Amino acid sequence: MGKTLSEKILSTKSGSSAQAGDIVVAGVDLAFVQDTTGPLTVRQFRAAGFKQPAGSLKAAIFLDHAAPSPNRELANDHKLLRDFAWETGSLLSEVGDGVCHQIVAESLAKPGALIIGADSHTVTAGGLGAFACGMGSTDVAVAMALGKTWLRVPESIKVVLSGRFASGVYAKDLILYLIGLIGADGATYQALEFGGEALSAMSVPERLTIANMAVEAGAKVGLFPSDEVTRSYLEGQGRDGDYQPLSADDSASYVRTIDINLAELEPVVSRPHTVDNTAPAREIKGTKIQQVVIGTCTGGRLDDLAVAAAILKGRQRHEQTRLVIAPASRAVMRAAIAAGYIETLLQAGALILPPGCGPCLGLHQGALGNGENCLSTANRNFKGRMGNPEAFVYLASAATAAASAVTGEITDPRDFS
Ligand code: SF4
Repeated sequence: MGKTLSEKILSTKSGSSAQAGDIVVAGVDLAFVQDTTGPLTVRQFRAAGFKQPAGSLKAAIFLDHAAPSPNRELANDHKLLRDFAWETGSLLSEVGDGVCHQIVAESLAKPGALIIGADSHTVTAGGLGAFACGMGSTDVAVAMALGKTWLRVPESIKVVLSGRFASGVYAKDLILYLIGLIGADGATYQALEFGGEALSAMSVPERLTIANMAVEAGAKVGLFPSDEVTRSYLEGQGRDGDYQPLSADDSASYVRTIDINLAELEPVVSRPHTVDNTAPAREIKGTKIQQVVIGTCTGGRLDDLAVAAAILKGRQRHEQTRLVIAPASRAVMRAAIAAGYIETLLQAGALILPPGCGPCLGLHQGALGNGENCLSTANRNFKGRMGNPEAFVYLASAATAAASAVTGEITDPRDFS
């Protein structure tokens, strides 16, 4: 029987013929932590008596969630992580470099790799054809030391994409639509594997946005094949040698197949307080918004800033709506400056934060007040997510976010076309 993408990658990484349901021990290529999960990993690593990460993998530490540190406790966590990185020779991504998942995509992930991270949105790298998943801090500590981990090979859902997005509709709308369709537990411990003729016109940044949110449907991974689009992205990053073609076998077995015609989609918004509580933007337009956030590992890439700048050019944010921009990485920030997007956003009244997670998880840089509504390009809108259980978070594309920043209320971006 043919293999899914998950089965193929985990077969190679485990040296066995892996089938869905099997438990495998697989070699890890990259194990990483960030600054909220990393301190426990470091303590567990040391408590277990480990001295060095395994030579067979790359270990990486990212200071991105509270960057720069907003208080002494988090500053001390950063110090612990820096000391660990310097002692062990692990890669250290400093404050201001950006969100772990964006940097992994830009410089570390490659097709066919096994990547684990102490962060649930590690799934993002599935956009490049890597089997990438989040794990607990202790699991990552052990994998870092041993160079391998155990996994149950997931069953796969095949998502077949056809057609092209209409104007004003983006990858974020697709993944919100899909999560609304199957529910927040619709793919629990399964792989969402994307395919179909639409992929030939779907960029890697779009794929990263979609893979990033696979976990919001409970998926273990969100996986794209590695194709010519992947090759050209890696070439653009100066990483030609990391490319390898990768696709599922035609005879692979799936638990479910979902067909989506991109041309039939429209702008979607997730309403508080669950990601699968979706509605077309046009149905809830008029909802007042006090803060718009364009950033994060889901919606803070160069393409997102370009879309936002195109809508905001020559316009101003609504006087009662704050506009917060957090580029996903230093590379994104530099490219956005070079392209003039940052200047456009500043002229529109935006506040530009340093590259990093920004206000996404409510640690700093934009926590919400009681009763306030935020429209964000992030991936989660759980109660209290942005620092206040009395506030409300809506999720949407950068286009919907930018259009809503202008009007001060949820707006269908097609109204600006
Ligand atoms: Fe997590 Fe948000 Fe940071 Fe992404 S941007 S890693 S979702 S806190």
